[in-house]
Amino acid sequence: MTGFPLDEFSDVLDGNREYAAHYAGMSLTGRALKGLAMVTCMDSRIAPLSVIGMAPGDVKILRNAGARVTDDVLRTLVLATYLLGVNRVLVMPHTDCKMASASEADIHDKIMADFGVDTRSEEFRTVDDQLAAVKYDVIRIRSYPLLPKDLVVGGAIYDVKTGNLNIIDI
Ligand SMILES: [Zn+2]
Repeated sequence: MTGFPLDEFSDVLDGNREYAAHYAGMSLTGRALKGLAMVTCMDSRIAPLSVIGMAPGDVKILRNAGARVTDDVLRTLVLATYLLGVNRVLVMPHTDCKMASASEADIHDKIMADFGVDTRSEEFRTVDDQLAAVKYDVIRIRSYPLLPKDLVVGGAIYDVKTGNLNIIDI
């Protein structure tokens, strides 16, 4: 297939036409107005800005499977802190996360069984103990030598059933 897949993206393009028709323009720059970066999961139940009562322009949002602090998250935080106004980071995984309910081996096995693809060269970074993983990831940011010494880092688990943010003492 070449070209843009118009049929598969028709809802996306319709949605954008609607959005752009009512778009008031944005005078903001790419700096995070509230000085916040959030590391959260790709889970489609999470509306990152709504969860914390913020708006476009306020926050840098970094998402991946499981809200893990990977090398690429650290790379992005270095840029976000020095160039884009970030001075605090919230690591926010969530309840009922697939990455915390299956083991690394389970996921490899499932993909192999269902699709015949051996994914073992990929490290999915599944989580056995979600609390321990958040602590590990918060400390990973706090101790990363290239980030500003005064960067404020906190961890909290978002409850997808109640909408509450449960802070963690780290
Ligand atoms: Zn998740």
